[in-house]
Amino acid sequence: MFSKILIANRGEIACRVIKTARRMGIKTVAVYSDADRNAMHVAMADEAYHIGPASARESYLVADKIIDVARKSGAQAVHPGYGFLSENAGFAEACAKAGIVFIGPPPAAIRAMGSKSEAKKIMEKAKVPLVPGYHGDDQSEALLVKEAARIGYPVLIKAAAGGGGKGMRVVESEVKFVEQLAGAKREAKGAFSDDHMLIEKYLTRPRHIEIQVFADTKGNCVYLFERDCSIQRRHQKVVEEAPAPGMPLERRKAMGEAAVAAAKAIGYVGAGTVEFIANQDGTFYFMEMNTRLQVEHPVTEMITGQDLVEWQLKVASGEPLPLLQDDLAINGHAIEVRLYAEDPVRNFLPSIGPLRHLRLPEENAHVRVDTGVLQGVEVSMNYDPMIAKIIVWDIDRLSAIRRLAGAMSDTQVVGVSTNTALLAAIAAHPAFAAGELDTGFIERHKAEVIVRPGAPSDQVLALAALAQLSRFGARSCELQKQSLDPWSPWGIASGWRVNGTSQDTLGFKSGDNDIKVGVTYRRDGTYELALPNGAIVASGELSEDGGLRATVNGVRQSANVVRLVANDGSEDLVIMAPGINQRLKALDPRNVSAVEEAPHGTLQAPMPGKVIDVKVKDGEKVRRGQPVVVLEAMKMEHTISAPSDGTIKKVKFAAGELVDEGVELVEFEPAA
Ligand code: ADP
Ligand code: ADP
Ligand code: MG
Repeated sequence: MFSKILIANRGEIACRVIKTARRMGIKTVAVYSDADRNAMHVAMADEAYHIGPASARESYLVADKIIDVARKSGAQAVHPGYGFLSENAGFAEACAKAGIVFIGPPPAAIRAMGSKSEAKKIMEKAKVPLVPGYHGDDQSEALLVKEAARIGYPVLIKAAAGGGGKGMRVVESEVKFVEQLAGAKREAKGAFSDDHMLIEKYLTRPRHIEIQVFADTKGNCVYLFERDCSIQRRHQKVVEEAPAPGMPLERRKAMGEAAVAAAKAIGYVGAGTVEFIANQDGTFYFMEMNTRLQVEHPVTEMITGQDLVEWQLKVASGEPLPLLQDDLAINGHAIEVRLYAEDPVRNFLPSIGPLRHLRLPEENAHVRVDTGVLQGVEVSMNYDPMIAKIIVWDIDRLSAIRRLAGAMSDTQVVGVSTNTALLAAIAAHPAFAAGELDTGFIERHKAEVIVRPGAPSDQVLALAALAQLSRFGARSCELQKQSLDPWSPWGIASGWRVNGTSQDTLGFKSGDNDIKVGVTYRRDGTYELALPNGAIVASGELSEDGGLRATVNGVRQSANVVRLVANDGSEDLVIMAPGINQRLKALDPRNVSAVEEAPHGTLQAPMPGKVIDVKVKDGEKVRRGQPVVVLEAMKMEHTISAPSDGTIKKVKFAAGELVDEGVELVEFEPAA
């Protein structure tokens, strides 16, 4: 076994690998970019080396720098994690040349599966079933159009070099084909520097079912059962579980054996995943093979009781697989959700910024949390926007879903938009409980799972009001302590008074609605709050860290309230409690009618990026929802659409220009 390894990655996967290495008594070496000086993986490793600027292209993706650090630190092997260099055959070769073990498959196996087109050719020979499609070398537009017609619409255009759902377009009919092909090629070129495309029949209501395989250098190869990753957005996984609901024993065996055949066909060694797309009737087709540890590997670990990173380290150091097929069994059910910094309401646009407040569920025998970030760090546009993976386990699926619902209500993030509410809504959805899974789940149930924050409930307003009153009270106590007159009426504990009377009004704003909360100070130190749906009696104490212990109509409750102050002095409160996560603007209590207007008639860049297409001209009339500008950010295309019917007064950027977050892309005049 190795005594020291280097982890050529960052974030949660680097931390996760370090944990296993430490448990096995192996020393760890981390690498980091400028953006990651204070990152968790750097703190966790035994040694850490700086490898360059924030941009991955100049740090985590530079093979030479990583190999240099391995040499310098005396690491005998490199674990690439996922993403970055994990599926880069050239890097695996360079490691071998430098006498360092690459913890992964042989370069030839990476290469064989690196192109989805080449992989399909190999699988065809190994008699693994394929989705009807075209994966030839001829890339002329005319031929692709012809092939799409032969396959029959709808079709899916895919980048051969693709990954992470990038460079992929569904095309409903021939009219749209050429335009969609151009978009997919553009995205593929940007993300993978390779725009070779393949076409597949687009299955309707398919399930994504993948098989975890493992092979050693002694000729053993096993499958560690399946994962169902059907709940996706933008063709990327959001919820993954093992085993797949409703999987019959024979089909599990057939898929497992097909996956092992695929691995054997390319002389595979180490951890790999064979991804299948399956129809509702169970027929399945090979989609691609990922020649690395998968993001969702924890669910397999939870149901098999195995540590897959430990298996990787053993296999890479020449040991045989710890268990053979007959030794492996499924125990219980596990579900993973990916907590992303993104906004489901705005078409899953990644969200960047500092994590002002982060509370993840507590780990125990049923709940595992894999993360690489701490409160206070910045989610930047340089890397993947995943904040954490929350994994639950229980003896059966419904019990696991209950655990998931509990874990999601313990999850609080402030500072960036997240998919927390989406994940909680999926966990609570009857169709999810019923196992009605397919890749259209989120789209089909979007009315229930993609929820725009509505008007705040009285409960939320009460918590917000208590937080304000408690904070003002604490402040006035401070003033009183400093003042020479300890008997000043300002020091009376029975509530701080804005105007020195027994009644006050607090003001909040939610969306466009102004909300007033009347406060009456009661002799016992509690408040009577006049809320939109009636009066309640409440009291509460806010601690320094934003914890609020409240009593509302006699019921005790804990909540967290985070206060965000913008540069212009305006204040937002984020109120969080189980099932509650609401942001309100807090108005100055001395002037509750002060309401600032949101800037009108602008279409702003939601994040820094590059303009790649402008769909409108000066003076053009547009309808609500009509695409205006296409922006590329984080290697994905994002379409910015008109917020309402109106007129484009002036286009301010041309294709190719870079824009900062918040800049006005076009001058827009909403129709009256
Ligand atoms: P990536 O390399 O981005 O993971 P995949 O080929 O694995 O690309 O596909 C990603 C997702 O796209 C799948 O999980 C599935 O939801 C969807 N998908 C892929 N191929 C098809 C298809 N032929 N029909 C319907 N959906 C598909
Ligand atoms: P999976 O099927 O495991 O989701 P994907 O092919 O979708 O695998 O992508 C692999 C993972 O690597 C994704 O979760 C993606 O977020 C991550 N990844 C890909 N490129 C990068 C990158 N440049 N930086 C950080 N993470 C990345
Ligand atoms: Mg895939």
